[in-house]
Amino acid sequence: METLGIRVGHERTAEGEHSEPIFATSSFVFGSAAEAAARFAGDTQGNIYSRFTNPTVRAFEERLAAMEGGESCVATASGMAAILATCMGLLQQGDHVISSRSIFGSTTMLFNKYLSRFGIETDYAKLSDVDDWARLIRPNTRLLFVETPSNPLTELGDIRALADLAHAHDCVLVVDNCFCTPALQRPLALGADIVIHSATKYLDGQGRAVGGAVVGDGKRVGEDVFGVLRTAGPTMSPFAAWIFLKGLETLSLRMQAHSERATQLAQWLATQPGVEKVHYPGLPSHPQHALAASQQDRPGGIVAFEVRGGREAAWRLIDSTRMLSITANLGDTKTTITHPATTTHGRLSDEERANAGISDGLVRVAVGLEAIEDIQADLARGFS
Ligand SMILES: *Cc1c(COP(=O)(O)O)cnc(C)c1O
Repeated sequence: METLGIRVGHERTAEGEHSEPIFATSSFVFGSAAEAAARFAGDTQGNIYSRFTNPTVRAFEERLAAMEGGESCVATASGMAAILATCMGLLQQGDHVISSRSIFGSTTMLFNKYLSRFGIETDYAKLSDVDDWARLIRPNTRLLFVETPSNPLTELGDIRALADLAHAHDCVLVVDNCFCTPALQRPLALGADIVIHSATKYLDGQGRAVGGAVVGDGKRVGEDVFGVLRTAGPTMSPFAAWIFLKGLETLSLRMQAHSERATQLAQWLATQPGVEKVHYPGLPSHPQHALAASQQDRPGGIVAFEVRGGREAAWRLIDSTRMLSITANLGDTKTTITHPATTTHGRLSDEERANAGISDGLVRVAVGLEAIEDIQADLARGFS
């Protein structure tokens, strides 16, 4: 994995550059009218226009495809563009989608507010309960969508079991692998058909750019999803692709370091009298600790915990930090702290929030790469 992240995708040009170049060009020129005609007709391979293909973007796509173990990858302008292009490429009017309930907020909006307008219905299943998914399957169900571990409670979906269910009903399983990245979890090897990324998070890893990707087989991703991208246009820019390419080079090391720090922080939080409960797949107290150990290489960088005293106590804890960044973003070298009930999940009704298990005292920390002693000291100030 370390080697793939560093060595795949770059074909050195005649200049002999060592680092990947940025091809800042919108279009490409042809040697002759006949060559242009052959390129446009698809008789010869090659670049035409950067909405279709670009060498820097392709280097990122090839590198991520290798790391996820997929035949094909298409890069997109954002993680949401990756999900939209996948739905547009694989679904049509009258189709039915089943998604886990605890997914990224904008993904829920996309399914409920926009895909519904085009005659695509979505039902929501309990992530950890495969029987719940099976009950919701209909003859027109085409796509199962899952995000594991979930945000912020780190609940898991059993990718192998969901893939078996999907394939028994002629459906595709799509996994949003944003929280683990291929450095910790490879859904395609577990039977999933398509992997989605918000490259904005750990693939970049330093909070610099917005981007996304879809990885899978040559037909669904290489033709169907790519077809949407080149026609509809939410493609990744070469500048962003270059940032993500460099991010992939350190991904394995970073995910290891994020996981180590998160494990230490979760263990420490569990000893704090002000903490009622810690949610982290790396703790033996996590209800799906065994599944996490078999499905993921490491538990990841996201830790959630419930403080005694509800919203007021949670806000005081957050406000008393001096180093941690109060932001909803994650997957950064900088540790971030979030109050889900009033930010990422603030638009839910009280009942929906209660169903999702988002209590008023819940705090989420996306553990960065600062020294663990400093991260702990910042939170310790709030507890005291
Ligand atoms: C951020 C995120 C997205 C959306 O990605 P953008 O790059 O912000 O469009 C999708 N899924 C998950 C799990 C995310 O965290």
